[in-house]
Amino acid sequence: MLGAKVVARAKINLFLRVGDLRDDGFHEIRSVMQALELSDELYFRVTDARGGRVAIRCNEEDVPVGPDNLVWRAVDAFDVETGAFGANGVQVLINKRIPVAAGLAGGSADAAATLVALNRIFELDLTHERLGRMAAMVGSDVAFCLGGGTALVSGRGEEVERLEPLPPFHVVLASMGQAVFTAEVYRRLDEIRAESGAGAESSDGILEGLLAGIRGHSFEDIYPNLRNDLESATMAAEGVEQLKEVALGAGARAALMSGSGPTVFALVSGIEEAAEVAWEMEKIAPITIVTSFSDRGAELKD
Ligand code: ATP
Repeated sequence: MLGAKVVARAKINLFLRVGDLRDDGFHEIRSVMQALELSDELYFRVTDARGGRVAIRCNEEDVPVGPDNLVWRAVDAFDVETGAFGANGVQVLINKRIPVAAGLAGGSADAAATLVALNRIFELDLTHERLGRMAAMVGSDVAFCLGGGTALVSGRGEEVERLEPLPPFHVVLASMGQAVFTAEVYRRLDEIRAESGAGAESSDGILEGLLAGIRGHSFEDIYPNLRNDLESATMAAEGVEQLKEVALGAGARAALMSGSGPTVFALVSGIEEAAEVAWEMEKIAPITIVTSFSDRGAELKD
């Protein structure tokens, strides 16, 4: 196998609780993540290593194509763990459709797709668990992005417990287009908490309500139990509030910021409602996308 095409799906956080800063510099998180049909496509081709082990091209100019690209880091992690490359290199073409630095884990999705592609290309047949360990070495959301669907994620993101997947519910995503630096949002949350003297608020009841809603496929129990601790720390707060108001005013059942933002997702109950909500959000948001929940993650395409 000398090439592969992989679909890399974005995620939203239906719930994100940020705990304390750990000694290793990461925050302890607990999150319910949901994969979306919105995806990048990655094309891989094995080369000889004369041009270097990795070469990346991307249609989106904001994405780095050197060692900072999470695809590059995934190739390194795979090679360190398996030694599979030998005298080979790989060319990766990223067709990016997931907005960048938007809280949708686009880079992590691409890294997960890379692990899946290399496993196929080098015909190693590695287990999901083994790929999951490599994923955790590359970045926090990569382990989730491998399997996608609906999952409860803990630790710094490497512990992934898959949940009963939700049906393909419609989602409208919108963003005012500001790029957000995840590390800075976490730092601001720490500052806000240090100033107020309050630690992470308890949200066990909300999480339990959400998990019960997911188990029962009951959206009536899901809508009121969405929460993101990072909403209070985003530097894009004004835009996030505006987008949430517009979404709810146009009939969305619930609206929340995803990850470290600034993307807001609105849950809508059908395509007609999706069209109405997207219409209104698009009036103020430079980026508006209608998509739906997916029960998959990084997926090989023949
Ligand atoms: P998360 O929700 O995981 O924090 P995000 O959706 O906010 O991620 P990404 O789209 O993954 O953010 O991009 C964050 C930064 O990572 C970008 O500014 C970019 O410089 C860098 N990056 C590295 N590799 C990639 C990639 N393959 N795709 C997009 N961005 C990448």
